[in-house]
Amino acid sequence: MSTPIGQELAQAVAWLEDADGLLIVAGSGMAAGLSETRDSKSLARALSVIGRVRPGEDDIGSPDVFRDSPRAAWGTYGKRLKQYRDTDPHPGYAILRRWTNAAPQGSFVYTSNVDGHFQKAGFAVDRIVEAAGSIHWLQCVKACTPQLWSADELTPSINPANGWLAGVVPTCPQCGSVARPNVSLAKDWDWVPNRTMRQHALLSSWLFPMKRLVVVEVGAGTLAIRRFSEQHGPRVIRIHPTDFDISPDVGLGFATTALDGLRQLDECRAPALKVAT
Ligand SMILES: [Zn+2]
Repeated sequence: MSTPIGQELAQAVAWLEDADGLLIVAGSGMAAGLSETRDSKSLARALSVIGRVRPGEDDIGSPDVFRDSPRAAWGTYGKRLKQYRDTDPHPGYAILRRWTNAAPQGSFVYTSNVDGHFQKAGFAVDRIVEAAGSIHWLQCVKACTPQLWSADELTPSINPANGWLAGVVPTCPQCGSVARPNVSLAKDWDWVPNRTMRQHALLSSWLFPMKRLVVVEVGAGTLAIRRFSEQHGPRVIRIHPTDFDISPDVGLGFATTALDGLRQLDECRAPALKVAT
């Protein structure tokens, strides 16, 4: 006899198998497990030491840090950039790729993560919205131009003594001001949204003809991202270890981590996928 969880798994698998397209909505729980909190605290500590901010104030989320203390800001973001480059996407991405290949219209990714790991895992670049931008693209700190440029040429060297950038501070090719990642920060009036807006337009075109859309929401903790999922119900599969509640009118919730949830669903789906792929 099936347990309720077994029934919910079976329902979710049935949705996946019937889907014409998958909208994959990912939050920090899907990311590579890097600790943003730890980085933020270390930057706040570094800034408090040089008197730029009040001790204990966590200012990593402010674009002002790049103006006032570019070496401290780039110390944190340079380290994060290197971590994202050096980390391979976990096996949950391969599961989502397999499901993408099995759906007639494939998938579109909507992620709040800035790590570029969906691209790294082989998802098509024109099928991804990076809602908060990307650490792999740079912009002018003054937003003097809407142009972005790739961070590929940037290999930040970090001073191990204080965690700050040791080498040359990247600059805007237009005006010579400091360059910063094209990542949307708190109260960030100078974030250049053009790249993300183009991605949104592609998503809208993809969604338009979809008849049997299934949303796979993985590790999304922020309210805005969760609402985005629910707007695309009624077949939302929510995977989150704590905030898994969802109205039955909108979808099903699974109380587990991103990778475990994807593995459980994939195991239930395995016999059908072997035939389909
Ligand atoms: Zn500039």
